[in-house]
Amino acid sequence: MPRRTHRFPVAALFTTFLAAAALAADRSGDAADAAADHLAHDIFKELIEIDTTDSVGSVTAAAEAVAQHFRAAGFPAEDVRVLGPNERKKNLVVRLRGTGRQKPVLLIGHLDVVEAPREDWSTDPFKLIEKDGYFYGRGTLDMKSGDAIMSATLLRLKQEGYRGSRDIILALTADEEDGCCNGVEWLVRNHRELIDAEFVLNHDGLVGYSINAEHGVPQEFAFSATEKLYADYQLTVANPGGHSSLPRSDNAIYQLAEGLLRIGRYSFPVELNEVTRAYFARMAKARTGQMGADMRAIVRDPGDAQAIARLSRESDLNALMRTTCVATRLKGGHSNNALPQRATAVVNCRILPGHSKEEVRKELIRVLNDPAITVRYVAEDGAITDTAPEQRALSPSPLLPQVLQPLESTVAAIWPGLPVVPFMNAGATDGIFTRAAGLPTYGVAGIAVDRDDMHAHGRDERLRVAAFYRGNEFFYRYLKALTAD
Ligand SMILES: [Zn+2]
Repeated sequence: MPRRTHRFPVAALFTTFLAAAALAADRSGDAADAAADHLAHDIFKELIEIDTTDSVGSVTAAAEAVAQHFRAAGFPAEDVRVLGPNERKKNLVVRLRGTGRQKPVLLIGHLDVVEAPREDWSTDPFKLIEKDGYFYGRGTLDMKSGDAIMSATLLRLKQEGYRGSRDIILALTADEEDGCCNGVEWLVRNHRELIDAEFVLNHDGLVGYSINAEHGVPQEFAFSATEKLYADYQLTVANPGGHSSLPRSDNAIYQLAEGLLRIGRYSFPVELNEVTRAYFARMAKARTGQMGADMRAIVRDPGDAQAIARLSRESDLNALMRTTCVATRLKGGHSNNALPQRATAVVNCRILPGHSKEEVRKELIRVLNDPAITVRYVAEDGAITDTAPEQRALSPSPLLPQVLQPLESTVAAIWPGLPVVPFMNAGATDGIFTRAAGLPTYGVAGIAVDRDDMHAHGRDERLRVAAFYRGNEFFYRYLKALTAD
């Protein structure tokens, strides 16, 4: 027992009384929080157990299931829309009306999941299993947890009779992972009026933003404000070939291999943008020792070669500083006893904002420095062309105070001292479509994920139970702070 309770019994009594009163007031909050968690869990379970894979699943079934909750909660029919290009790929768009003092915020999340072969999994991937403090199931991380949290938050706000400063629009969509009919792209093109907003929050946090945790302990709250551009290139060496008993100096496999090694040794120049500079500046404060010093050094001088060399050893930091290209596939020859007539490789690149796919193709040609190796562009649908599009990776979204300030205050209230850092995704999300439509887009999710658990597309996808409920609490509080009137 603290010593001061002996010294000041009356004050202590009063303190106890205040604490009890506060607790009672808190209880009603607790009850509402518990109900909100319950609802989020039910929607989560419902979504996990609806197969939304591209092969045999139906996104429409998931969109309809969630729409039912909104209709039952009293959302008018015109504010709950289920629509899309075909029967299996319909999206849900819901609007919670505010006072209209500010322009709407759009929340996006995808309902589809990648395939989950039952034989690879320890549990049924299409059942939500709670075990040892984790939720297991396909989509627990990517991203039916986020879909459930966003839906439950809107339902809770509606139930409270909450009217924020802006409409809150929620779009749960098809085909982020794969498939014919990306829902965000379709909505932007066909129903811009339904989703038009001042800015967009993407809850798809499994691509690097979210709370990074070690053994359940949050390390930093990363939110995304920009992403790299994805591009594949095919490298080919052709050769007349011949009999393998008579080798010559020109050989398709050797030439290609030497070219690939040159790419492997090459590093694209370091380039920081508004987002990555802010990332390193903020992370430097949270890191001690050499790493913190190196982060500070490159913010001061992005040409500091020694700091760059040390930071580049960490693959995630390396990817933040420069365009990366890496060989991912290799094929060559046609017979054990013939000189190869052809050798091909695929090189996958993640391009920094401001640069184009064609620019990177030309850079690969320069690095390969061998006219025998042709470098062609491989489009997403597999079509191969001699040159790449001039399309540039989009500039980062500006770090808007109306997005950041409520984020920082909400994080500080829930996770005191946790650094909030802007982040650049190394892979593409649905944010490319909203950014291309001119809507500033941020990846924001309050779900803590252990670095070791980042196997979202793999077997036994899982999420800590506590992280799910914390993420639910975060999102509710953040959305209220963001729309405070
Ligand atoms: Zn995802």
